[in-house]
Amino acid sequence: MADTSKIAKNLERFAQAVAAHDRENPTHNAYGIGLAHFDMERLGLEEGEEILPGITIHADGGVTGNFRVLCDGQHEEGLTEAEEEAVEVIATQSLPVVSPGVRPFEPFER
Ligand SMILES: [Zn+2]
Repeated sequence: MADTSKIAKNLERFAQAVAAHDRENPTHNAYGIGLAHFDMERLGLEEGEEILPGITIHADGGVTGNFRVLCDGQHEEGLTEAEEEAVEVIATQSLPVVSPGVRPFEPFER
């Protein structure tokens, strides 16, 4: 059985991430949370399960322990000033790969 307090914490984190995404990208529509399949099973979540109003769970080819907000927008052009700075700072080492319509992975409660 999955730990319900952990699930509650993660739901809170998902909600915060969606809220932050919507605040930063008012023209985007967030529709889901992408999780590694392993984490989905571990948290007892089902593909397509609605965990927040209008937000469903989707198996995503991500790293375990991370999630991302799925949306219908493009994120390459939607970087905030702070994010652009961060990209510049690390540009000489490695560029983060940003797929269309998804946010970078974020850690969740293990
Ligand atoms: Zn977006």
